[in-house]
Amino acid sequence: MIEPIIKIKDVSIVYNIGKENEFHASDHVNMEIYPGEYIIFFGPSGCGKSTILYCVLGVLPPTSGQILVKGENPYAYSAQEMVRYQTKVIGIMYQAFYLIPSLTIMDNVTLPMIFEGIPPNERKIRGQALLNRFGIGQHGHKLPDALSGGQIQRVSVARSFINDPQIILADEPVGNLDSKSADQVMDTLDEINRVDKKTIILVTHDAKYLPYAHRVIYVRDGKVARIVPNPEKKQIAHVDKQKTLVTEMEQLAKVHPYLSPSELKVKSMINYLTQDFTLEQLGGLEKYSKLMIDGKITKDRFYELLTASFESGGLEIRPSVAREMAEKTDRVLMQAKDVGRYRRRLERNNFFGTENKLIIKLLGYVMAEFELQLDGLIKKRLKDLIYDRISGLHKKATFLKKLYLPREEGGLGFSKERASQITQYFEKLLIQGIETEGKGH
Ligand code: ADP
Repeated sequence: MIEPIIKIKDVSIVYNIGKENEFHASDHVNMEIYPGEYIIFFGPSGCGKSTILYCVLGVLPPTSGQILVKGENPYAYSAQEMVRYQTKVIGIMYQAFYLIPSLTIMDNVTLPMIFEGIPPNERKIRGQALLNRFGIGQHGHKLPDALSGGQIQRVSVARSFINDPQIILADEPVGNLDSKSADQVMDTLDEINRVDKKTIILVTHDAKYLPYAHRVIYVRDGKVARIVPNPEKKQIAHVDKQKTLVTEMEQLAKVHPYLSPSELKVKSMINYLTQDFTLEQLGGLEKYSKLMIDGKITKDRFYELLTASFESGGLEIRPSVAREMAEKTDRVLMQAKDVGRYRRRLERNNFFGTENKLIIKLLGYVMAEFELQLDGLIKKRLKDLIYDRISGLHKKATFLKKLYLPREEGGLGFSKERASQITQYFEKLLIQGIETEGKGH
């Protein structure tokens, strides 16, 4: 089992202690970051992301709690050890580039090596190699002024990299760049993570970068609101299976970062039910689906609300469509209860493999929903597949693929369209079946 490279234990950071403007910027923050992970601190401006970053950098001691990097407390270091820490262990890049305007690009990049006592020749060779690598090899002799924002930011990637630190911190590094330069810098950071296996902590308030991360740490009001593993990336940290299960939920969470899991469930249901509705109707559907998902109204009341006139608070949805929506919602919610039951047993390590009655029930639901007539072999394969998906052994993509893979290749041989319908449907059951109430996040 690999050890975390960074451990943050119950860290609180208070600015201006005892003064009128005392401010609690970090509030009992806990996290563990593993070597080679790409971590994003995500949250709105002012929520306390950079505060944690600077604490890791060794320039902002915790007011209480402890931080350990590679098992050591950097705040116990001597001045000399701290210099080594901030060159060999940690490198940082900022949104403002902090290059020295009177020095050439090459000198700016190689400056940190001076503190390491590396001779000029070697500095130059390594500096040039890095500039080449980041696509700015021909600019070494120029002053920072002569380069574009994107080029400058690549200079600062090179600079943060020059002493080959194990951890790179990046504080909104692309916040000031046009989108093309931003993408280039983000790709460079990604490469440093994938190829050089550096641990990266990136601070951003822009959701579009979240897919780069192994795990996203949502920060809000100085607290860690939740930690979400990216299901598209092979995880380095140990991640609870339950948390990697629902791809669509995670995807929705990326688009709606501040919705709670229960609100995301509503969104997911709406995505499933709606095609051509007005915004007003969609808004109303969310409201009424939430009531139904929360068990506050019955299927019949839901139907009434959907079909009633606008004046009376209804949505004027055609009765046949509304009827189907009410039926579908009811069915998914009912069937999802079995997913919930199964998952709870799984969590208690109390599951009975693919012969479990609940799995067989779920198999029945899927077969009924799509009126499937299956022979023994395919039925067994579908049951196993359901078991694997619900237990978190397969991702959504694998589930889908197995459905349409030919029988000879171990699949179920459905058409792609049918496979995709079954997958969508089953994901709905999974989402609605995941417990969200009473668990904090
Ligand atoms: P983020 O990186 O999420 O934008 P920061 O960690 O920079 O947030 O800041 C969190 C809060 O702490 C902000 O409200 C900010 O105004 C406050 N803050 C940051 N630095 C200081 C400081 N040196 N003194 C007092 N308050 C500060």
